[in-house]
Amino acid sequence: MAEIYIDGRWEAARAGARREIRCPADGTLVAEIDEGGAEDTDAAVAAAHRAFHSGPWPTTGAVERGALLLRVADLLERDKDLIARAESLDTGKRLVESEYDVDDVAAVFRHYGRVAAEEAGRVVDTGNPDVVSRVVSEPIGVCGLVTPWNYPLLQVSWKVAPCLAAGNTFVLKPSELSPHTAIHLMKLLEEAGLPAGVGNLVVGAGASAGAPLSEDPRVDLISFTGGLATGRHIMATAAATVKKVALELGGKNPNLVFADADRDAALDFALTAVFLHSGQVCSAGARLLVEESIHDEFVDALVDRARRIRLGGPFDEKAESGALISQAHLDKVEAYIARGIAEGAVLRCGGTRPDDPALAGGYFLLPTVLDGCRSDMSVVQDESFGPVLTVETFTTEDDAVRIANDSIYGLAGAVWTQDAGRAERVAARLRMGTVWINDYHPYVPQAEWGGYKQSGIGRELGRAGLDEYRETKHIWHNIRPRVQGWFSG
Ligand code: NAD
Repeated sequence: MAEIYIDGRWEAARAGARREIRCPADGTLVAEIDEGGAEDTDAAVAAAHRAFHSGPWPTTGAVERGALLLRVADLLERDKDLIARAESLDTGKRLVESEYDVDDVAAVFRHYGRVAAEEAGRVVDTGNPDVVSRVVSEPIGVCGLVTPWNYPLLQVSWKVAPCLAAGNTFVLKPSELSPHTAIHLMKLLEEAGLPAGVGNLVVGAGASAGAPLSEDPRVDLISFTGGLATGRHIMATAAATVKKVALELGGKNPNLVFADADRDAALDFALTAVFLHSGQVCSAGARLLVEESIHDEFVDALVDRARRIRLGGPFDEKAESGALISQAHLDKVEAYIARGIAEGAVLRCGGTRPDDPALAGGYFLLPTVLDGCRSDMSVVQDESFGPVLTVETFTTEDDAVRIANDSIYGLAGAVWTQDAGRAERVAARLRMGTVWINDYHPYVPQAEWGGYKQSGIGRELGRAGLDEYRETKHIWHNIRPRVQGWFSG
């Protein structure tokens, strides 16, 4: 079975390389698949370039393009069980979470299917009756789409759906650790009738299969979701051909709890904010900022509940959280915890692997709370991308905002208070792309997602998420051309 999809055909990797995909929860072999490289990406870009410049897709009516996305949404729902299972095997996440993800993915396709034909352009009043002037949106061209392993199909859908809605062609390079649901999606796009060459898939490692996308002059846009270091590298590389760059990077997201918050709800959400999917969430509320007067009581209760979180494999119905993605990532998170303790953080719970022999084959780490942190510690500033909560305190509203904004990141954050005025004041002052008030984590495809500061450039979802994939053209039409006589000779 070949897993690389180029110009409407499933192909084996040109260099003949293969990669084993193993489930992070127990190390079992999920499958061995093709490992694409630079020559596969080159062929995929050539196909996407041909399909954009001489194929039917960019000039297909937007309503028809939208209809294809709606068909894909139906197919995703039809295959929900298969896709959710594949996602859980690749990532180790609980089956129920993968099922939620497939629902979200279908909702994203449905949203862009509906809005594809909105806003065909606008007429501009130039003040000159002899001129018809209009501004139109056009597809940007060939898009390179590069995605991470934590929400594999979800991150793919945030790019593929608006990219196709706008009339572009693409080469998708999903994470090499979790490729199966992207492969499945390409099959659904094929089944829904996407013309050959419009959507291409290269599975393989970032340095070999992904890097050529930011270098290639035939690629007009690179949209990347992943880590900060990779994002910086992609942006620098893309500068050589001045491509448009959209980046969704990391976060170190503060969750602010004031003393007047609904204590039970704030506590419950403080756990979900950070420990959902073992903290492998870009918007994880990994930085708890709690008002000093309630610190002891709040953190004691939180630690008590964190200790009781049940870990397990994706199909263990009693499990509440799963494994980390890989040994390398587990090592990184453990080193991060050790650094925090060396910096003076107080380990309140977790910090080690579970001693349950049933979990020995997976990359599990106990939910960890580091108390007594300050914002000048690297453990507070750096993203761990694991089940690790750092706790800081504040005394005033100004203090809370200042500490929360003391970060190179600006992806998301939350504020918990029953004082509506304070909630709005704080939300307005937080330098983040998403702020939740008395909630944590929800999002909808209608609303933009993205980061301030070093959390990224541009937005996904919402109207801006579609505009990322569009160029804007002004067409000036002189309907009564006459000699102007600017030059007399
Ligand atoms: P990563 O940067 O290691 O990899 C992301 C993708 O980039 C993978 O497909 C990888 O193969 C590819 N890649 C690596 N080097 C490349 C290169 N030189 N050129 C092109 N592609 C290359 O990130 P990861 O470990 O897969 O994901 C975790 C990170 O993603 C975290 O930092 C997390 O915060 C971030 N993330 C952000 C969002 C968001 O919406 N802002 C969402 C999910 C994840």
